[in-house]
Amino acid sequence: MSVAAPPANKLTNFINGQWVESQTSEWRDVVNPATGELLASVPLADAADVNKAVEAAAAAFPEWRRTPPEDRIQPLFKLKTLLEEHIDDIARLITLENGKTFVEGKAEMRRAIENVEVACGIPMMMQGYNLEDVARGIDEMMIRQPLGVVAAIVPFNFPGMIAFWYLPYAIATGNTFILKPSERVPLTMRYVYELLEKTGLPKGVVNLVNGGKAAVDALIDHPKVRAISFVGSTPVARYIYSRSAQQGKRCQCQGGAKNHVIVLPDADMPMATQIISDSAFGCAGQRCLAVSVAVTIGEAQKTFRDSIADAASKLRVGNGLEDGVQMGPVISPQSKERVESLIGVGEKQGAKVLLDGRNAKIPKNERGNFVKPTILDDVPATSEITDTEIFGPVLSLVHADNMDEALAFLERSAYGNQASLFTSSGSAARRFRYEAPAGNIGINIGVAAPMAYFPFSGWKNSFFGDLHGQGRDAIEFYTDKKVVVERWAKEHSRKF
Ligand code: NAD
Repeated sequence: MSVAAPPANKLTNFINGQWVESQTSEWRDVVNPATGELLASVPLADAADVNKAVEAAAAAFPEWRRTPPEDRIQPLFKLKTLLEEHIDDIARLITLENGKTFVEGKAEMRRAIENVEVACGIPMMMQGYNLEDVARGIDEMMIRQPLGVVAAIVPFNFPGMIAFWYLPYAIATGNTFILKPSERVPLTMRYVYELLEKTGLPKGVVNLVNGGKAAVDALIDHPKVRAISFVGSTPVARYIYSRSAQQGKRCQCQGGAKNHVIVLPDADMPMATQIISDSAFGCAGQRCLAVSVAVTIGEAQKTFRDSIADAASKLRVGNGLEDGVQMGPVISPQSKERVESLIGVGEKQGAKVLLDGRNAKIPKNERGNFVKPTILDDVPATSEITDTEIFGPVLSLVHADNMDEALAFLERSAYGNQASLFTSSGSAARRFRYEAPAGNIGINIGVAAPMAYFPFSGWKNSFFGDLHGQGRDAIEFYTDKKVVVERWAKEHSRKF
């Protein structure tokens, strides 16, 4: 993948309000996963590039933090309008570099815009609180102040949305910001930053550094970076969390997932089938909230198995820019190979391949990384396939005799990103909400993605930290609390 000399469409970094060339000698190809076409070459920035971005952000901070919150949100209103105007172009770019369908790309940008809208409420949300007379004549107040330079490191699977879990809140609260997009999908954020240039944000408030591990390490280690946000796989999340902690830094790291859905026999089966099919196979299963294991109870074993196999087999797979295509490719040939080999492991360990998406051939897109929807039935309760995050369009079916047994599957999982239940019973739903060991719960919902005004939760190995992205947590994360205790002598006030 690495090339000695960059081809045309050589990407640059955005530092101090300008697009600047990277100093690195390492580059990586950006490839369309549906066609194999080379789209661009992205620099893998080194510590020198990162240092320039941090210095620019640090220089912009004192003036930006003094800018009234009401003024700080004005560029965000402009950004919202620009994102709305350009949503189709951005969605097309997402499809080109990530592979998901145009409709999915557009839906992801809607969620991005939602975060911009919520951050526009910062003048209310950032307020502290106070109390007069904590002792006679003494008042106390808590005020929130921005941290300084903060950075976010994001994954390939939502090239447009995930940066927005951080950027709008970080700058609205008065911080200056550095984004490190995924080196596999850097084009979407280049476009977004071109829009940010038109919003009137002062130089250095938002910066972008392209790169991989070296850039991430340099951001974590730089003494002027105060906080790190990360979204990606669990091993990298754990690594970034511990490296940041060693530097005494505030850090929030969202990791991988293995999401379960429990289907009770009283569920509305056509609705459950449609929603679970969308969850498992939408975005080719490359969503951290994709359902990966369906646990059926009682007669749902047969009814759900038959209906989901039928629905999945009808999904139209292809290039996400073509009309009517419902599922695109996975991100890379390596990812396709890995997903197909995990299906083989499941088969060897006793699962029945009910629907086999391996060796998919998509006419006119022979070089694409396509895996069609795959369903494994009778997957053993403890096996590599039930424990591993597959991150592809593969749904495993397991059976349980009752809710206790079904919940035990979830307890055993190392991950806790999302758990869902399909039922028409209120008491079953309440029990599930109460007991399910996951941070995002869906009741008759397949992708329980929190709206921007709620935290994007995640438990166990799906999250390292305490404050999540989005919602009120974002304000907590991006501000330091300062408590002021105040006394003024009475005599002084009498003078005037
Ligand atoms: P990844 O961990 O490979 O990469 C994520 C980011 O980390 C990228 O910017 C990458 O450049 C950087 N990175 C990669 N290896 C690194 C290393 N060794 N040291 C430092 N930085 C490194 O993840 P990905 O493949 O891009 O994304 C898919 C993963 O993200 C899946 O596991 C998915 O579940 C997870 N994800 C989680 C959430 C969530 O909210 N919990 C959301 C989206 C994706």
